[in-house]
Amino acid sequence: MASDHLAKLRAAVRDVADFPKPGIIFKDITPILCDGALFRTAIDLFRERCRGLKVDKVVCIDARGFLFGSAVAYELGIGLVPIRKKGKLPYKTERAAYTLEYGEAEMEMHIDSINPGERIVLIDDLLATGGTSASAATLIKKVGGELIEAQFLIELEFLHGRAKLEPDPVVSFLTY
Ligand code: AMP
Repeated sequence: MASDHLAKLRAAVRDVADFPKPGIIFKDITPILCDGALFRTAIDLFRERCRGLKVDKVVCIDARGFLFGSAVAYELGIGLVPIRKKGKLPYKTERAAYTLEYGEAEMEMHIDSINPGERIVLIDDLLATGGTSASAATLIKKVGGELIEAQFLIELEFLHGRAKLEPDPVVSFLTY
């Protein structure tokens, strides 16, 4: 992917100070979503990265992960598995806890959404502390999936989230 494409994506990410709470700089990706060319560029990054990985399914994380993951799965012609916050999925689930700034929360995935041995790419919009995606990785492995790579549009490197995912491979396209 040409560096000018990355520069355009970077320029479109909007910093919103003190959202959702004081001290957080929220990386708002909605300007990318509402520009057709930029949205395509973002999806192409993931799609090209998946080329040659022999991916069976895309797993994506509630809620902004769905926006990218579903388009990537469509492009690749493969299945999509949503990981959701506790209480949202209707059928039997596996659960994994993760740490929030204050306390703990749980993510869920349907028990029958991944077949043992399937090659999985995990997609989310942003890697921060890594708690959310580490719980997603736990769920993928619990049901027998093989996590090939975790992919993020944005990584906040100063939070060292990838340490929670490694040794699983981690890729991000825009780093801060
Ligand atoms: P974490 O578990 O800390 O890696 O948080 C990752 C999840 O929280 C992702 O699904 C992001 O959408 C969201 N998130 C965390 N921090 C930010 C931020 N500064 N800007 C935008 N989204 C964030």
